[in-house]
Amino acid sequence: MDFALTEDQQIFQRMVRDFATNELQPVAAQVDEEEKFPAENIRKIAELGLMGVSISEEYGGSGGDAIHLVIATEEIARACASTSTVYLASLSLACYPIYMFGTDDQKKRFVVPVAKGQKLACFALTEPGAGSDAAAIQTAATPKGDHYVLDGTKVFITNGAEADIAVVFATTNKSLRHRGIVSLIVEKGTPGFSVGKKERKLGIRGSSTAELVFENCHVPVGNRLGGEGGGFKVAMGAIDASRINVAAQAVGIARAGLEASLAYAKDRQQFGQPIAGFQAVQWMLADMATYVDAARLLTYRAAYLKNQGLPYLKEAAMAKLFAAEAAMSITTKAVQIHGGYGYIKDYPVERYFRDAKITEIYEGTSEMQRMTIARQLIG
Ligand SMILES: Cc1cc2nc3c(=O)[nH]c(=O)nc-3n(C[C@H](O)[C@H](O)[C@H](O)COP(=O)(O)OP(=O)(O)OC[C@H]3O[C@@H](n4cnc5c(N)ncnc54)[C@H](O)[C@@H]3O)c2cc1C
Repeated sequence: MDFALTEDQQIFQRMVRDFATNELQPVAAQVDEEEKFPAENIRKIAELGLMGVSISEEYGGSGGDAIHLVIATEEIARACASTSTVYLASLSLACYPIYMFGTDDQKKRFVVPVAKGQKLACFALTEPGAGSDAAAIQTAATPKGDHYVLDGTKVFITNGAEADIAVVFATTNKSLRHRGIVSLIVEKGTPGFSVGKKERKLGIRGSSTAELVFENCHVPVGNRLGGEGGGFKVAMGAIDASRINVAAQAVGIARAGLEASLAYAKDRQQFGQPIAGFQAVQWMLADMATYVDAARLLTYRAAYLKNQGLPYLKEAAMAKLFAAEAAMSITTKAVQIHGGYGYIKDYPVERYFRDAKITEIYEGTSEMQRMTIARQLIG
């Protein structure tokens, strides 16, 4: 049992922390306020090789493993949650399944440019009538010679408007539910593929969330990930792994709330003393710090199991569930500690509070995480 990061991991953490604090944090409020896609942040992240963390150098990545990825994600999310959403959607949700399930040719064509940060990717599973029940997707993939013809609409797709590459899930036979699903890599510019409505959101407002529309869109069979009917396995494989990184994102947002609250509580004077002197505030800070540590430990455990090649489904769901709820609880307390100043935009905690909420919703709601954990417990 060893609770310390290795020297290499500590150096990596310091490097990402310094970068994120100096380059991402100063623009985070503007990215949120202007709902501005953080293209410049992503360019800088790519320059450092971080768009390819956990992807081997052979396929354009910078190496490292699941622990490196959670370290990078926590630091990026602490500085700018919107940027961390763009980052995770491209690397962890879209690129990683191509890396896991793709052929050598697919990896060379699609993983290499995404891991190098030359291209951005998105993951398109959700539909208007299929969210938690992902096996109910209706987008049709009709086999026609050496192509599939895609027809349907995806909603809520992170990076949808900017992505060069989309990993799209569709069905060849709706009655087969999950066994009828195929996963296809669709390139921007493919005729019949367009971007529809862009959503306006409560939090992570700098990340884009868009509708993707497919109308008689021909995709080569050579762009299929996994076998015919193997798309659901690809989707679940991607989400199971990526959940660990959403947990790390929640830890990052929560830590930002804790750090801002500590500084404020030591500075803000009421009744002739800093509010940090009041036990009611101390207890909130103590709970916040305890929740951050517990959430991070669960996240590291899940990443550790993944690195070891051991089962991690239950542990990843526990990490995501706990970290997301901790992030909501901590950022709510952060607003409370700031009093009225927590409610206005001069301070960052109202943004942390809004950004935290998504971690309880995407990549499986908290209810779905509980369902996964219970199924694993009951057997
Ligand atoms: C900002 C944002 C970004 C997103 N990015 C992406 C993306 O990049 N790619 C992508 O494919 N999707 C993305 N999504 C979609 C996201 O994953 C879904 O919104 C989420 O899975 C929930 O689906 P839903 O919204 O249809 O809610 P529903 O499934 O309709 O759920 C509504 C409520 O019912 C509950 N519920 C549903 N079924 C059950 C059940 N069996 N038992 C108990 N409770 C249940 C849910 O927990 C929830 O509280 C994104 C969403 C948002 C808001």
